[in-house]
Amino acid sequence: MVAALSRFERRIPFASPDRLEHLQRKRLRDLVDHAFRTVPFYRDLKRDGLDPASIRSAEDIARLPMIDAGALVDDPMRFVCDEFRTSGREVFKTSGSSSGLRKPIFWDHGSLLLRAARAERDRVVIARLAEERWTSMIVREFLTNEKRRFVARRFGIDTDHHQRLLILPADFSSRTQRTIYSERTTIPRRPVHYNHLPPSVPFEVAAAHLRAIRPRVVFSFGSYVDQFFHYLESTDSDVPLPKLWVYLGDRLSPGGREIAEERGCRLYSVYGAMEAGTIGFQCEHRDGFHLNTDLCIVRIVDKDGEELPPGHVGSVTISPLDNRAMVLLNYNVGDLGAISTTPCACGRTLPRLSRFEGRQSEYVRLGDGREIGSITIEAMFSRELRRTIQARLEQDEPGHLRWRVVAAAGETPDALALALKSRAAKALGVDTRVEVTFSDHIPLTEAGKFVRAVHRQPVANAKANRNLER
Ligand SMILES: [Zn+2]
Repeated sequence: MVAALSRFERRIPFASPDRLEHLQRKRLRDLVDHAFRTVPFYRDLKRDGLDPASIRSAEDIARLPMIDAGALVDDPMRFVCDEFRTSGREVFKTSGSSSGLRKPIFWDHGSLLLRAARAERDRVVIARLAEERWTSMIVREFLTNEKRRFVARRFGIDTDHHQRLLILPADFSSRTQRTIYSERTTIPRRPVHYNHLPPSVPFEVAAAHLRAIRPRVVFSFGSYVDQFFHYLESTDSDVPLPKLWVYLGDRLSPGGREIAEERGCRLYSVYGAMEAGTIGFQCEHRDGFHLNTDLCIVRIVDKDGEELPPGHVGSVTISPLDNRAMVLLNYNVGDLGAISTTPCACGRTLPRLSRFEGRQSEYVRLGDGREIGSITIEAMFSRELRRTIQARLEQDEPGHLRWRVVAAAGETPDALALALKSRAAKALGVDTRVEVTFSDHIPLTEAGKFVRAVHRQPVANAKANRNLER
């Protein structure tokens, strides 16, 4: 059944807009009826007079109150369906990289299984970008495992060249493998081997694994690949790179992307959240994320929750339609982005999140009152940051920033601090005071992520930032 579903899923990104809307409406209707019957938060809304029949299309989502990480932290069980409180579901924890708080997310077993088939949408692109031509659809569709192995031997295909390296936390790796790469479904297996490393291992160890395994595809968080390439640059190491480096969870800095491109390593990303599964995925053009709008409604809203037209940057709010265990409609996921105004050259009809501006929690305030994202600041400092391995932006108070950096091998702290400060004066203006602090190592969070911007206001944002420094 899953194999048939995979074929169906592979066609969805190219379906007509009418077909996509039909699927979206049907799933929304089913989910709303289910939620207003069985999920406390939505039952309360009904009691207060909200009619579930009034929520039938993406536009109607605006009738629902916007929820965010705070609501989930305060009382996650309000969003859990009665039926799945104690069984029939898995409970995952978010990484806490946006709000600093790890929230429990419930997923029912049925939707987790379907997710495996849905991953076909991006898996097709990954195979293509990794140049795994022999896993063409025809081979994958019609051959049994034995025949596939015969074909592989017959054509001298060396399965050693289809190694994967996952540099992700253990719980994340198994979940990634299960839900994104379908290893436990009836989809015919490819002779692919998965190797695992936790993101906490030193970069030398990861480099040694790349030399020994020579993986065709590597998976990691964006911050990991970013710092790994800074490390390679710093040590001038000659390491065989994979055909494709797939990053998820967070992003690369502009400088890290530049180094990867110079070294000829292709980068690819999927946009997901524990609350939603895969929200969007890049296509072969790798220009924005095609949004799985039939599975998760994405709206871009302003500060008042009003929906913005394509081309305008606002908060990304999601409404995952395929999870029956936990229902989160009109959920502010903490990212900023804009929907593309033009269709993609690849022919996929799924709309694109074209400008991804990072997380709201990564914005800092300059001395002249401007709020600016760490992604923009990293771009301004990209030349100086190439002389570091890790770099974090810290804000003690508005107008006062600190770069906490791990210097690259051979860099003298004085010279690097001077370079960072003189760039700051040029790029950020004289009203913003910038200091530089050197560390031997900046630790990752418990979930294996790197926090690139830290706020230290003691009162106002204390709750949101409570755990950022773990
Ligand atoms: Zn495309």
